[in-house]
Amino acid sequence: MPENTLSKTHIDIPDNVGFIIKTLEDKGFEAYAVGGCVRDTLIGRMPGDWDITTSALPHEIKSCFRRTVDTGIEHGTVTVMFGSESYEVTTYRIDGEYRDNRHPDSVSFTSSVREDLRRRDFTINAMAYNERTGILDLFGGCEDLKAGIIRCVGDADERFDEDALRILRAVRFAAQLDFRIEEHTANAVKRHAINLQAVSKERILTEITKLICSAHIERIFDIFELGLAPYISEHFDEINISGLKELITAKDTTEGHDRYLSAEERKAVENAFDYEKTTSCELRFARFAMLAEGMEPEHVKKMIKGLKPDNDTLHNTEFLIRLLYVPLSDDRYELKTQMTDVPPKLFYCLLRLKAVSCRTKLYKERCRNEKLENVIALYDDIMKTDEPIYLKELAVNGSDLISCGVKPGPELGEMLKRLLDLVYREPRHNDKSFLKEKALNIL
Ligand code: ATP
Ligand code: MG
Repeated sequence: MPENTLSKTHIDIPDNVGFIIKTLEDKGFEAYAVGGCVRDTLIGRMPGDWDITTSALPHEIKSCFRRTVDTGIEHGTVTVMFGSESYEVTTYRIDGEYRDNRHPDSVSFTSSVREDLRRRDFTINAMAYNERTGILDLFGGCEDLKAGIIRCVGDADERFDEDALRILRAVRFAAQLDFRIEEHTANAVKRHAINLQAVSKERILTEITKLICSAHIERIFDIFELGLAPYISEHFDEINISGLKELITAKDTTEGHDRYLSAEERKAVENAFDYEKTTSCELRFARFAMLAEGMEPEHVKKMIKGLKPDNDTLHNTEFLIRLLYVPLSDDRYELKTQMTDVPPKLFYCLLRLKAVSCRTKLYKERCRNEKLENVIALYDDIMKTDEPIYLKELAVNGSDLISCGVKPGPELGEMLKRLLDLVYREPRHNDKSFLKEKALNIL
């Protein structure tokens, strides 16, 4: 985080948000940008959406803007539309009693912004901003943001007792922001883990997906360490997290009981995700696949579909999972033939995925003879020497061969493959005239 980010009292807000705030203020109401957008802007992260909190009542909000939608009007939320852009504007609110560990029985409106900020989950999510006031931070959100801490607003036990979804939100924000969950908050998470039973499967799915797609998938370990795993797997028959569990508990055969991975082993698992080198999209493929690790491929599709990825992600993830248990060779020629059918970026993902999965029982069973360390070293070497792997890297193409007399069609494809095979064995033969001559000899 840039050193001085949090000391500035001005933040750049989108024009529409500024307009909404100003319009409400001109009518005599208070209005602020609030929650995630303030948090994200302060740490230089792109906010997902901009929410506005105001002292205006829902009907008053509606009277200020031309196009509005009654999104959750009974809870005070009106959506204000500008073209295709929309913003949720919500009346300052106090939540009533929570009797089901999830939803307040009632909400009431208040004229106090303090009350509205107090009902919010974490200090870093309980800050508001407008140009008049600057940052309104009544619960130490800025300090926690600087220190990288997730801390409940008020008494953590009470807050998780009210709404168990906050338990998963804590873990998810910790992963997205790479923050630490403050001790009282973490202990309260553990004490209220059982309340996750009150959270719907869809909401759990959303939070887990956000965690998996964050830059710190290794924070999935928090789910085990905080005792949340049993309640999540209970909701998700389709999501088998036993593969992940195996990553953190490895059988100690000498003593015959489970033990946790040592710090070094765990680091190795974490390092297997090399964030710099992998684009976020591929990382998602690998993460979905990793979550599914330990499952049979036919179950995986259903599970991944449940996470609602786009078609490419779905396709590539399935592809990775199918390849996960295919042992790779540490013979140079063999490895190149294995690489040829896998797009380069996916092959890199596959190695990452194998590196995190290779400790699991299923993997050890299926890839018994694979020497992954040698494979990775060999792969690095092949990449360094820039040897041709794919047909498009061959010095001759289809039309070159047609000009030598090869017939278009299957024969042509076959010939290209034979030439590529030749180049696998002898990379220096990747030369147009040499390969053309070879083709003529073969014909
Ligand atoms: P993101 O949109 O990146 O997931 P966010 O912080 O904006 O993060 P939202 O779910 O959009 O999260 O909620 C907006 C704000 O509403 C939060 O910042 C927080 O202040 C408040 N909030 C959301 N869910 C809860 C909850 N379960 N309990 C208390 N406050 C909540
Ligand atoms: Mg949001």
